[in-house]
Amino acid sequence: LDTTVVIIGAGPAGLSLANFLQRGGVGCVVLEMRDRAYVEGRQRAGVIDHRAGEIFAEFGLGDQVTGSGPVETLLEIRTDGVPRLLDVPALAGGRPSRLVPQQLLVQRLIGSYLDGGGDLRFEARDVTPHDLDGDRPHVTYRDADGTTHELTCSYVAGCDGFHGVSRASIPAEELTTYSFDHGIGWYTVLADSPPPRYPLMAVSRHGFAAQFARGPQASRFYLQYQPGDDPRQWPDEHTWSRLRLRLGDDALPEGPITGREVVEMRSFVAEPMAWGRLFLAGDAAHILTPMGAKGMNLAITDAYLLARAITASALHGDDAGLAAYSAACLRRTWDYQEFSRWFAEMVHDAGAESDAFRRRLARARLDRLFESPYAAAAFADLMAGTAFPQA
Ligand code: FAD
Repeated sequence: LDTTVVIIGAGPAGLSLANFLQRGGVGCVVLEMRDRAYVEGRQRAGVIDHRAGEIFAEFGLGDQVTGSGPVETLLEIRTDGVPRLLDVPALAGGRPSRLVPQQLLVQRLIGSYLDGGGDLRFEARDVTPHDLDGDRPHVTYRDADGTTHELTCSYVAGCDGFHGVSRASIPAEELTTYSFDHGIGWYTVLADSPPPRYPLMAVSRHGFAAQFARGPQASRFYLQYQPGDDPRQWPDEHTWSRLRLRLGDDALPEGPITGREVVEMRSFVAEPMAWGRLFLAGDAAHILTPMGAKGMNLAITDAYLLARAITASALHGDDAGLAAYSAACLRRTWDYQEFSRWFAEMVHDAGAESDAFRRRLARARLDRLFESPYAAAAFADLMAGTAFPQA
């Protein structure tokens, strides 16, 4: 065997798994199609929830990976211009999340894995898994010079995101997939504009908007847009005027816009997350809307459960964790899909774009959060990351 585990993809799932296996004494090789600069520069998520933070701490990576990230304090849900604050960490029983931009997490995980002697191969083209339903799977790829390589292994971890090759390697009849379009359009811009005091979501009759810190002098803004509209054509002044209106802040500090993206609010789940010797983790198996900020955190918890299961199998011949892996991950996935949908309805249905009945439901849900400590605690528990279900 060339290695115990071939990990396809060096995103949060693949890199977390590689670090956990390395620390557990299990050999692995990571194959990533992009170059290092591209992977380390990709900006997406920004929050490591408390549960994911605990996992890094368990592997002795807490200080290195999440330690210096600012601790989450309050969450502001501005309603019709009126600030309303939730102390999410306190409501979750003193469990704060940390603000760690995804690209920083990725840089740190690459650094710690390579410092520990890890084998990470960038620019791996045409990565193809073979014999996944046999005892000796292998993975072929071409390096940047065009030379073909083959790696034999005991397990293949498919951590290559939604568009990767891993899930596509499973025969269609073995998979059940669930897709859902939330019918909500989001325009997101990254700007060199000072971040808000607290993570900020704004609900008003003008529609949803949000602003989150992306470093000491940068913010990511989100704006709900009408189906059929193309916000990438909006002049910047139009974007800023909408943000001012929806955030209820005439003095919102502007800055150069450095990135523009349209986010599809859709959900996807593939079941099961394992086939033969292939185990899917992260976006390869499921995508969520950004509401609730659970995508990256699910990728990390999948990697954790998979690392534990592979370590028990490879080092102790105990396959129980591998047999239970898919069901355990899917249990969390559906919990978070439900949370993300619940959250999306609450903040998007409250504006004029929704019909009157949904609008009233959304307002009732939002008010309950600020009026019932039980509702607030349930919300905070999901934000902090729920406990692992008992086997
Ligand atoms: P990815 O990050 O997609 O990594 C997969 C890796 O595999 C990539 O490096 C890719 O290059 C590589 N790869 C793909 N195909 C192949 C192949 N054939 N061979 C080899 N390598 C391959 N989540 C949150 O928790 N909070 C947020 O606030 C949040 N905001 C988001 C905002 C945006 C705009 C987007 C797009 C996503 C956001 N997410 C958020 C989701 C989060 O970014 C993902 O859930 C997370 O990146 C999943 O990690 P992953 O490792 O599973 O997949």
